[in-house]
Amino acid sequence: MNFQAYVSLWAACFVGGLLVLYTIYSAKEAVDYMPQCPMVEPYRPSTYLANSQVIDTILHDHEFRNQSLVKLQNAIRIKTETHDDDPATVEDDPEYWSKFDIFESYLRSTFPLFYQNTELHKVNHHGLVYIWRGTNTTLKPLLLMGHQDTSPVPESTLPLWTYPPFEAHYNGTHLFGRGSSDCKNLVIGYFEAAEELMKTGFIPRRTVVFSFGFDEEVSGVRNRNAQWLEQKFGSKSMYAICDEGGVSLTTLDGTTMAVPGTGEKGFLNLWIDLKTPGGHSSVPPDHTSLGVMADLMVKIENDPFPSYFTPQNPTYYQYVCLAENSATIDKELKKNILSSQASPLSNKKVREYIESSRWLKYYIKTSQALDVIHGGSKSNALPEFVQLTINSRVAIEESIHSALEKYLRNVKNVAQKYDFGLSYQLKNEPAVEIFPPTPQGDFLVHTDEYFDVAPLTPINDNHWKIFAGNIKHVYEELIWPDIYQGPNAHNPIIVSPGIAPGNTDTKYYWNLSDHIYRYRPGEYTSVETSAHGVNEWIKFDSHLQIIVFYFQYIQSVDEIDD
Ligand SMILES: [Zn+2]
Repeated sequence: MNFQAYVSLWAACFVGGLLVLYTIYSAKEAVDYMPQCPMVEPYRPSTYLANSQVIDTILHDHEFRNQSLVKLQNAIRIKTETHDDDPATVEDDPEYWSKFDIFESYLRSTFPLFYQNTELHKVNHHGLVYIWRGTNTTLKPLLLMGHQDTSPVPESTLPLWTYPPFEAHYNGTHLFGRGSSDCKNLVIGYFEAAEELMKTGFIPRRTVVFSFGFDEEVSGVRNRNAQWLEQKFGSKSMYAICDEGGVSLTTLDGTTMAVPGTGEKGFLNLWIDLKTPGGHSSVPPDHTSLGVMADLMVKIENDPFPSYFTPQNPTYYQYVCLAENSATIDKELKKNILSSQASPLSNKKVREYIESSRWLKYYIKTSQALDVIHGGSKSNALPEFVQLTINSRVAIEESIHSALEKYLRNVKNVAQKYDFGLSYQLKNEPAVEIFPPTPQGDFLVHTDEYFDVAPLTPINDNHWKIFAGNIKHVYEELIWPDIYQGPNAHNPIIVSPGIAPGNTDTKYYWNLSDHIYRYRPGEYTSVETSAHGVNEWIKFDSHLQIIVFYFQYIQSVDEIDD
C-alpha cells in the first residue's frame, strides 16, 4: 500500500467512523427523547352529527348572528364597572351596587328558557349561582364561571375611544365596548349555549352550575360564591371549572396554538413603612426618610427575581409543544428547549430568550412593580413617615414567603446601612422583629393582601383530553374544516397548557376541583383585544365560537361517567 492509498484508507475509516458515531448518536438521541407536549386528538360528543344543523346555525346563520349580537350589545350597554375605592360591602351602599340588579333582570328577560330550567341563588346580594340540575346525582357537576363586572373607563380616556365604550358599536365584523372581551362575551355565551341545548330538548345527566361574581376586577373580595358552593356541594365536588383567561389562539413560528391556563401565579401587595424623627428642614440629616426610601427602591429594582424554566410551570410545555411541532422554529432554540432540563446552559439560553421580551418574561419569573409612594407633608418639615407599595405576581416555582424573603433581604441591607430598626408582619400574625428600633428610624414591612400560587391542573388525564380535544374539534372540524381537513390540511392546532400573568376569580375555587381551565374561545390572543384599555373589542365570530364550544363541551362531559 503506498502512502497516498494509506492516507485515503485512513481518511475513509475516519469519516466512516464519524458517520457510524453520528448515526449511533442520533439514533440514541431519537430513542432517548420522549415527546412531552400533552397532544390530544379532537374530541367530540356523540351527538355531533345529530346536532350539525344547530351548530351550523350558530356559526353561519345570519338571523342567529344578529340576535346574538343584540344580546351581547345590550349586556355591554348596562354599566357594571367596579373601582378600587368601591364601598367595602354591599350593605355599605346598596344603591351603588344596584347596577347588578339591573344586569340580573336583563339576563332574566333575555334568557327566559335558561331561567325556566335553572335555579338561581343570589349569594352576597349580587353573586349569581345558577344550578341546572342533572338527572344523575352521582356525577360531579360541571362549573362554568365568569364575572358580571368590568374594569372602569376613566373619564380621561373617553376622548380616546373611537366609539363610546357603552354604545357597543358593531362595524359588521367587530364589536367595540367595555366588557366586550372581558368578559360579558363569555357570560352571555354560556347563557346562549345552554339555551341552544335546552331548545334541542337536552336534559343533562351531569348538573351544570354557573357562577358569576360581581367584583372580579377589584380582587373579588366580596365574592362568596365559592364558599356557598362548597357548603352546598362539598369540597372537590366539581368535575371541572372553566373560567376566563389563557390565550385563545395565537400563531407562533407558523404553529397555531390555544393555551388554556392550567396554573396561575401568586399575588402579593407589600407595604414598606419607614418612620423617622421629624424636625426642621434647615438642619436635616444627610438622608431624610425619603432619601433612604429612594435608596431602597433602587436596590429593589437592581435585584430582580430569578427566572425559571421548569416542568413545574405550564409555560414550559408551551415552549416544548412549539419545539416539538413547529417546522420553522430556530434550530438552536429548539435544541435548547428540548435539552433544557438536562443542560443548565441550554436552560439559561431559553430563559434569556424568553426574558428578552417584556411581555413574555413574567411567565417565568416573579414581577416587582413599585406602584405607590407616600411621604412628607411640608417643605419646611422633615418627612416623618414614608410608605411604599409594591405589587408582585409570584412565579409558579416560588411562594409568598420566598418573595417576602427577597424583599426583606433588600430592606435589611438598607436598614443596616443607616442603622434603622426592622420588623415585618403578615396578615393576622404577630409582628416579627429583625432589628430592634433605633433613634434613627424604623422599617415595617407588612401585607394583608396576598394569595399563593394556584395548584396545577393535571394535563395527562381524561379531563384534559376532553377539554383540549373539544378545542381542536371546534376549530379544526367545525370552524375551519377547509383549513384543517383533507389532503392539503394545515398543521393541526396545538393545545398547550399555560399560565396567565394576571389572576382570575378561580383563586377562590381551588377547594372545589383539581381541574381548573382558564380559557375563553376566540380568534385572538388575550392581549390584543385591549381588555381594560381603550377601544376594547372582539371579532364577533369569536363570540359565536364561545357558544359552539360550550354547546359541545357540556355534551361531551355529560356523556362520560368520570
Ligand atoms: Zn375578566
